[in-house]
Amino acid sequence: MLTVMKFGGTSVGSAEALERAADIIVSARTNRVVVVSAMSGITNFLVAALEDGPKNAEKVFREFEERHIAVAKQLFEGERFDAFKEEFDERLNQFKEVYTNPENWKDPYFKDNVSSQGERFSSLLLAHLIRTKGHKSEAITSEQAGIVAFGQPLNGTCDLERTASGMGMSVTPKVYSGIIPVITGFYGVNDEGKPLTFGRGGSDYAAAAIGNALDADMIEIWTDVNGFMSADPRIVPDAVTIEEMNFSEAAELAYFGAKVLHPRTIEPARMKHIGVKIKNSYHPENFGTHIHNLRRKSDTRLKSVAMKSDLSIITVKSGELAYRIKLIAKIVDRIGDADIPVYAISTSLSTIAFLVHNNDITKILGAMGPIKGDIEGIDVKSDVTLICTVGDDMLDQKGISGDVFGAVKDAGANVEMISEGASDVSLNFVVPTESALQVVRCIHKRFITGGSK
Ligand code: ADP
Ligand code: ASP
Ligand code: MG
Repeated sequence: MLTVMKFGGTSVGSAEALERAADIIVSARTNRVVVVSAMSGITNFLVAALEDGPKNAEKVFREFEERHIAVAKQLFEGERFDAFKEEFDERLNQFKEVYTNPENWKDPYFKDNVSSQGERFSSLLLAHLIRTKGHKSEAITSEQAGIVAFGQPLNGTCDLERTASGMGMSVTPKVYSGIIPVITGFYGVNDEGKPLTFGRGGSDYAAAAIGNALDADMIEIWTDVNGFMSADPRIVPDAVTIEEMNFSEAAELAYFGAKVLHPRTIEPARMKHIGVKIKNSYHPENFGTHIHNLRRKSDTRLKSVAMKSDLSIITVKSGELAYRIKLIAKIVDRIGDADIPVYAISTSLSTIAFLVHNNDITKILGAMGPIKGDIEGIDVKSDVTLICTVGDDMLDQKGISGDVFGAVKDAGANVEMISEGASDVSLNFVVPTESALQVVRCIHKRFITGGSK
């Protein structure tokens, strides 16, 4: 039996957190492969450094080193510290070489390389700490593990097949010889041998891809809350933990804004029917959430509500568009060429509307250029928020839409766009960003804490 155990930023963000993580790992009864994020704050620090440009290199290295060494001093003494420091310096020198070469700053994948540096050092801390607890452990980078990625900078996808063959050679033999590998999350390596990150929060996805590649029996996501909850507890303080969910429910919520899982975490697990557990590293005794393939009826009509902000509605207009399917195909084709995610599509007789990220508007408007003559106009409404509500068999529940929109009315919000019926587990709609928090709270109150079951 093999478990992939992923620890997020706060779960490895201090000496105490690392101690907790190491205790959880060594007390697990199965074989395990560990995946880590950078210590909390480190990726943001590196992203900010990139924005500042190369001039502050010395300061960046100093702060980066201080943060990690301060933690290492709390964890290791004497020879153990020296052994850690030797590997640490080796990795730090590699980072310095990459960062200080002006040629590298022109490389499209340079930001991926720099922003993924934190994982190389958190993995080192954790592997050394596991050794102090009497177990064999090795810190392994994605390069060494053979995690293969492809795609645009900062937006990689894991090549699961090639990762499986790479890891079969590099990691599996270690696991069976009793070593606990601690692998860097967040990135893989592309065909040119360059680090390519999976988007912010991508260590969850890396863990799921590693679980898929190794045919794991379970993927555990260790984080700072008691599992997948009925809403983001930072927005809704009385949110409750959902003990069981199926893959579709978790995937919809993650894609539409539930930050507890990277949007693409579920698919690599679902493909091989590998269960995903979300657990609290501060309270390992709590059950957390188990996400699996089964569909079991729950006693609530709505399980969870998530929101995704910074979106825009792009409406393309053309007379009797509904009768001109080929024009619709052309419009969709242009969006396909722009290669951007679309969060919802809705149509009427003479319009088709797409929900996209604010940052993608210029790209989409540019992509429409070649078919300008075929369309009558394009409207853009920016800064809207998508609300995603998820429950069992939403399509078959009589009156559920009325009740959801009743809660939207309680919040005094206007609905700008609706997407219903495409998925049987979710009902999504768009509201102005200024009313989004209130909408989430009113829905949560009506369906989860308020007792409308
Ligand atoms: P990690 O560093 O462990 O990857 P993240 O900060 O990425 O942790 O994700 C955990 C956070 O996700 C929680 O602290 C919580 O605020 C937020 N979150 C958003 N939606 C949910 C939800 N539905 N259930 C649980 N947590 C959520
Ligand atoms: N460290 C990366 C980030 O902050 C990846 C992750 O934490 O999952 O985005
Ligand atoms: Mg995360």
